[in-house]
Amino acid sequence: VASLETKPDPTVVTARDLKIGGGHVGVIAGPCSVESEEQILTVARQVKAAGAAGLRGGAFKPRTSPYAFQGLKEEGLKLLAMAREETGLAVVTEVMTPHHVDLVAEYTDVLQIGARNMQNYHLLQAVGESRKPVLLKRGASATMDEFLLAAEYILDQGNTQVALCERGIRTFETHTRFTLPLASVAYLHERTHLPVVIDPSHGTGIASLVPPMCTAAVAAGADGLIIEVHPDPHKALSDGAQSLTPEAFAGTMEQCRKVAVAL
Ligand code: PEP
Ligand code: MN
Repeated sequence: VASLETKPDPTVVTARDLKIGGGHVGVIAGPCSVESEEQILTVARQVKAAGAAGLRGGAFKPRTSPYAFQGLKEEGLKLLAMAREETGLAVVTEVMTPHHVDLVAEYTDVLQIGARNMQNYHLLQAVGESRKPVLLKRGASATMDEFLLAAEYILDQGNTQVALCERGIRTFETHTRFTLPLASVAYLHERTHLPVVIDPSHGTGIASLVPPMCTAAVAAGADGLIIEVHPDPHKALSDGAQSLTPEAFAGTMEQCRKVAVAL
């Protein structure tokens, strides 16, 4: 169902003013985790002013250590809804288990499936049954075929609003957190009508590398970007090292706009 033979025209994933695909480059920005009312409202205003159409923020966090901050859970969802109410941004947040799909769907515009859950088939079917758009992240060790078959699980339930997100893979290389294959954009565009979003924050793990990977992704034809932005990255409860300041995010948006109309 994801293949270009089935549907030659590009799928546009739409949530409020966020449009991903078919010539639209949808930008989703915000903190790794929702931490407080002040934090999420501040950053929502800042990313909106810089031109983002989507607000990201984790409420249920899949942390490597069980002792690390696990997210504000339902309270975090309520804060995201509050930020949406004020700014009009489309909210994108992760759902980690089929039991939470209805709860998360009440508060969000796009359901994010995290890399660690790309092959959680019951979860994929559950978000497929919901009619919310889905941002499906590539598993860190998943092949492209496995990635596309994971998308099929969602499409097979009748949900056509699926965006694929390349967020970096695990390789022998250790200088970056993951290795970010930008060739995924061009490759996936040859195989599927589904739009392709790049996550340079998790893809590199290093804030200074994020802006150039954003412009490169846009140049390669990416249909969207998802970028971690924190009002004070040093104080972030998760992923501070890869989070842009609001100022750096605004500069990145300007550079991306130049690339989009360059030559
Ligand atoms: C995230 O978006 O904060 C996240 C946990 O991403 P991933 O699932 O790609 O690791
Ligand atoms: Mn993160």
